[in-house]
Amino acid sequence: MSTLPPVPEPFYWTSHPWGAALRCAALDPLADHLFTSRQLGLPAEPAWTTLAATLEVTPDHLRRVRQVHGHAVVTVRAGSAGMPGGGALDSRPEADALIGDDPGSALAVMTADCVPLLLADQRTGAVAAVHAGWRGTAAKIVGEALTAMQRAFGTDPANLIAVIGPAIRPCCYEVGTELVDAFAAQQHERYLIDRWFIAKPPRRGEREIPKLRLDVAGANRDQLILAGVPEGRIFDCGLCTAMQLDVLTSFRAEGAAAGRLAAVIRPRARHQAPPA
Ligand SMILES: [Zn+2]
Repeated sequence: MSTLPPVPEPFYWTSHPWGAALRCAALDPLADHLFTSRQLGLPAEPAWTTLAATLEVTPDHLRRVRQVHGHAVVTVRAGSAGMPGGGALDSRPEADALIGDDPGSALAVMTADCVPLLLADQRTGAVAAVHAGWRGTAAKIVGEALTAMQRAFGTDPANLIAVIGPAIRPCCYEVGTELVDAFAAQQHERYLIDRWFIAKPPRRGEREIPKLRLDVAGANRDQLILAGVPEGRIFDCGLCTAMQLDVLTSFRAEGAAAGRLAAVIRPRARHQAPPA
């Protein structure tokens, strides 16, 4: 068993027959949830069945989407028939976020360096799982998920708990200037773009243009704050996928053969509030 990297409060590791999982105590009262480690063996299909069992749902109730680096959001409502995101891969909708209030369904997104976010509304118990790579982040996917939660469940961002899982960090994520253009094309404020794209100062005598590094997790954090989520309710584990290859897995570091990680969340069953 490899040594698990240290994580800040209120994150903690749990141990399962298949390996380690990362959780956040701030989410625990609202939702069962976890970020998987590479030991689960995704994206192999049997690993999804194992993950469903860990969340205590049937494989059909582990709701997934065909992720396309866009900004579409799928809603999984409690009590509605024919809920999306179960069954065969082809039958799943194209989207990069799922929101829901069904305690019988777990919502999952899959990542390999992209930012996984898990959200839960402290007042209504509604939850979301979001996949935000650089394209989805440029397209403001986390804001789209929040807007969808507001519409579907009356979520107030002030009541949200937001958790950022393992992702590639600026330390390991060099990008080209075309990404800056892509963000600018989506009308992000200049001061934000300057903050998200970090330029290392050139060394003395170096004539090369300094390389840019993108802080995708930080960009999502800023987008949550802009949407009205209080800073103190956003929790980032800080782990870099490219630097913990015994526990995590990274497309940048390992190439096409890299495994995948999943972030999954299942709302807890809520008892009806007593009449006031
Ligand atoms: Zn790194």
